[in-house]
Amino acid sequence: MNVHAAPESVNADQLLGGIEAGGTKYVCAVAFEPEHPILEARFPTATPEETVARAVAFFREAEKIHSPLSSLGIGTFGPARIDPEAGDYGTILSTPKEGWAGFPLVESLRQTLGMALPIAFDTDVNAAALGEAMYGAARGVGNIAYVTVGTGIGGGLIQRGRLLHGRLHPEIGHFLVPDLDAEYGKSTQVCPFHTSCLEGRASGPAIAARWGCPAELLPPDHPAWELEARYLALGCLQITAAWSPDVILLGGGVSQGKGLIERVRDELLLLTGGYWDLPRMDEYLRYPALNQQAGIIGALELARKIGNAKVSGSQ
Ligand code: ADP
Ligand code: ZN
Repeated sequence: MNVHAAPESVNADQLLGGIEAGGTKYVCAVAFEPEHPILEARFPTATPEETVARAVAFFREAEKIHSPLSSLGIGTFGPARIDPEAGDYGTILSTPKEGWAGFPLVESLRQTLGMALPIAFDTDVNAAALGEAMYGAARGVGNIAYVTVGTGIGGGLIQRGRLLHGRLHPEIGHFLVPDLDAEYGKSTQVCPFHTSCLEGRASGPAIAARWGCPAELLPPDHPAWELEARYLALGCLQITAAWSPDVILLGGGVSQGKGLIERVRDELLLLTGGYWDLPRMDEYLRYPALNQQAGIIGALELARKIGNAKVSGSQ
């Protein structure tokens, strides 16, 4: 296993700011050490202007109590322009969320919080992956796939301790999968863009639409779980084939389904056909550890990293 270094430094006089910018709620926090937020605010995601104003008000208040912010990390819902070289870096892209498509989030925060403030901008799922990698279930592991199965399906990838970025960002939820629904006399897929993708077949809303009942109310012996495990195992197989992680973390509300992770492990073992030299399935496919805190802790870690990069870059 690749082991990556512990945080290079935690600077006790640098106040880190973090935003977990979700499509339904915003979480803002400050900390001196990412895993220990000292002040936190949660509020519903409203219009961009209102939401940014509330976030700024929170950070101003925190600065009064503590010290000026030294850097800010943002993990946002997407799609978002996270490539720092792009002209529209820091912008929310083509979201159906009213008012947010094209909104320059980083720019508008800079204008109010200060043009010199170092800001790191990444996806919410990448932030959560980073949180788990540094402070959670994959601490000390170099190659990590973090998958969240909830209202949507998303994934963040860490290779040799670094978040993997592409032209935009990986979208594990939209891996194409074969239609297994037919075997169960069903035909549900809820993604408006694809005929048969993982999110369309295996997200929480797909389960609810297929069986007429939210996932958390389905009993453990319901066929829904066998089908769900088969779809998720296909996703894990493709992750394994493409990125060869040391561990896959399976998070999000749906993953809480009783017995689901065990079924996914069994199914994945079958699908691999004995081809890879994988760790034991109960080590390879695991639950995250930070639960609801992964995103905000990861955002604070993004702040810590960019703050350190600026300090070492200016020496
Ligand atoms: P979101 O993706 O909106 O951030 P969650 O990760 O909590 O939020 O995912 C919400 C989805 O998870 C819903 O579709 C819900 O039905 C499902 N869910 C929540 N709790 C459970 C549970 N205990 N077992 C199975 N499914 C669950
Ligand atoms: Zn899709």
